[in-house]
Amino acid sequence: MLRDIKYTSPETLADAAALLGKHGDDATIISGGQSLMPMLRQRLTNYELLVDINEVQDQDYIQVDGDELRIGCLVRHNDVANSETVADHCEMLAETAAEIGDTQVRNRGTICGAVAHADPAGDPPVVATALDAEIKSCGPDGEHAYDASSFFHGFYETELGKDEIVTEVVFPVVEPPLGAAYQKYEPSAGAYPTATVAAVVELDGDEVAAATLVTGAIEPGPTPMPDAEAQLEGETLTEAVVTEVAELVGDESEPMEDSDGSVEFKREITKTLAKRALVTAIDRAGGDIE
Ligand SMILES: Cc1cc2nc3c(=O)[nH]c(=O)nc-3n(C[C@H](O)[C@H](O)[C@H](O)COP(=O)(O)OP(=O)(O)OC[C@H]3O[C@@H](n4cnc5c(N)ncnc54)[C@H](O)[C@@H]3O)c2cc1C
Repeated sequence: MLRDIKYTSPETLADAAALLGKHGDDATIISGGQSLMPMLRQRLTNYELLVDINEVQDQDYIQVDGDELRIGCLVRHNDVANSETVADHCEMLAETAAEIGDTQVRNRGTICGAVAHADPAGDPPVVATALDAEIKSCGPDGEHAYDASSFFHGFYETELGKDEIVTEVVFPVVEPPLGAAYQKYEPSAGAYPTATVAAVVELDGDEVAAATLVTGAIEPGPTPMPDAEAQLEGETLTEAVVTEVAELVGDESEPMEDSDGSVEFKREITKTLAKRALVTAIDRAGGDIE
């Protein structure tokens, strides 16, 4: 049974932020409730006031503005998974959202909530980091913007202030010569992943101009793999190069050992995921592996 928690549903994000500012650590936002409610039920966290943002109008937008794909704070995972706009402009995000949890989780959970929550095994933080999305917020002192690449600090910690609300996540439009892909291993259908890899590749003719490789779930937060990225950049695409880089992602990673598997197991899985993500990202970038 839940404790005696007060609940309010303001009609604007400014009012919601003001309530967070007034109540400090005693209040928190609820959007999809897919992480917060289980944590409250299991008494892993406690608040005196839940500030529900679901009554705020017009926050369920998915919009393309030039080279930006904007996802509002009440966009559900399933909205993203089923959106032609997302599929056309950022296929990696659509494929990621389609594989989050189960239908119930996807019907309620939000991309912005997942980014704010920063679960070490969460999928959207890894994709946002790999694409260096912009995370926008509002708080009692106004609006802020964060680069996803420096937003996540591991184990539910982010740059976000306690009285701030993530208002939208802005992803870059991904189109050739840029390609991106996400791969994950989950121990059973609908479960949180054991290991994930996001690959973003920019091609210049036959060569790799830039590469971003980020692992998820195996470490406390999304983790870039700079040695593997450097190894790929400037290379011509061959099967041997891609395999070598994928193996380096696994070797460079520092997985946590837990009930999902040993360090060695997670490194091996990460190598396989990295290879699959790279092959798909290169294909989407318009490249051919010789
Ligand atoms: C069975 C199950 C399986 C799942 N599997 C996966 C999975 O495979 N991959 C995955 O990524 N996730 C998974 N999830 C989590 C799910 O994706 C959540 O929806 C997501 O992590 C949080 O989004 P939410 O909107 O539900 O946030 P809520 O549960 O409402 O909130 C979570 C936390 O974030 C804060 N918050 C929420 N929205 C905002 C906001 N806009 N601004 C500031 N703070 C905010 C809340 O205050 C709270 O602290 C799973 C959940 C369940 C129950």
